[in-house]
Order: sequence, then structure tokens, then C-alpha cells
Amino acid sequence: MAVKKIVTYGTPSLREPSKEVHKVSSKIKTLVQDLFDTMYMNNGVGLAAPQIGVNLRVFVVDCSTADEPLKPMVFINPKIIKKEGATLSQEGCLSFPDAYTEVKRYNDVMIKALDRNGKPFVMEAKGGTLLARCLQHENDHLDGILFIDHTTNRFEADKVLSEHNLPPVEVDRILDEPELDKELGK
Ligand code: ZN
Repeated sequence: MAVKKIVTYGTPSLREPSKEVHKVSSKIKTLVQDLFDTMYMNNGVGLAAPQIGVNLRVFVVDCSTADEPLKPMVFINPKIIKKEGATLSQEGCLSFPDAYTEVKRYNDVMIKALDRNGKPFVMEAKGGTLLARCLQHENDHLDGILFIDHTTNRFEADKVLSEHNLPPVEVDRILDEPELDKELGK
């Protein structure tokens, strides 16, 4: 069991694109376990390797609710292969302690990845559920994209960040998302 330190917004590694995993070695399995230990210890629903300072394409998710058994899921070299619809989501991130703001997300996603044994799988998450949004959020981390880059209101996001002693929104990182804007009627 190894709970790692989670790096916070402003740390350069959060903005670096992560590298593909070439082999699901014992080192990767240890990384996966460290991600789970760190995520559960911090009551998170997802955690990506760059958040513990490792720029490899790995994230873990567990969107089970308190009265359900744990549902740990591992995504290695993930790729979102289909995305549809749009939804607004109030999101936070373990790298932005206690800061929540509204972002744009796809409603439905299909993702392919390798599991913790290196076996390929495809998963679909529909209806703007926590899982659907979480998969997009964690997958973004592997490309150095952060949830605030999907903000619906930069000024509101800045206010929340400053209240939590975090650096302001990086304006040039805000994503142009015409497809989502159209769906959301913006
Ligand atoms: Zn995050």
C-alpha cells in the first residue's frame, strides 16, 4: 500500500502529455495499486498517473456510491472512440482541492483501453452519468488537459480558484468546443 502525494494545479507535470505504456509490467501494476490507494485515501472517484507525478497513460476510476461494493476500474492507454450529446457538469479534481466549477462534457462516450492485465476492452458510459463524465475528465489528464479548460464561465472559475488559493485559469488553454456549445444552445 502506497499513498502518493497528489500534485496540485500549477505543477508543470499536470500540463505534460503522458507517454503510452508499452508493457503492463509489474512496475505498471504497482503504479495502478498506488493510484487506487491514493484515490481511495482522498475519497476521489478517479485519479490519473500525472496527478502523482508519473506521465504515463494510466488512470483509475471507482464511481460506486457509499452503499455499493467498490467498483475499481483500470484504464491503460485509453482512447475515447465515440462521443455524443452534451451535458453540464459541476466538477472538481483532486489536484484542485475543494474547488468546484461548471464544465461542458459529452453525454455519452465509448472508450477502449487495456485493463490491469493488459487485456483490451471497450466500455460505454451513457446519459451524462458520473462515470461518463469521469472517463472524460481522467482521459484528459493524460493529454495535459484540465477540467477548467472546459469551463462555461471563466470569471466564475477564476473566483473559485482564487478562493482556494489556486492559480487563475490559463485563458489560452480554454478549449474551443463548438460541437458542445451547439448542443447546449450556447
Ligand atoms: Zn482531475
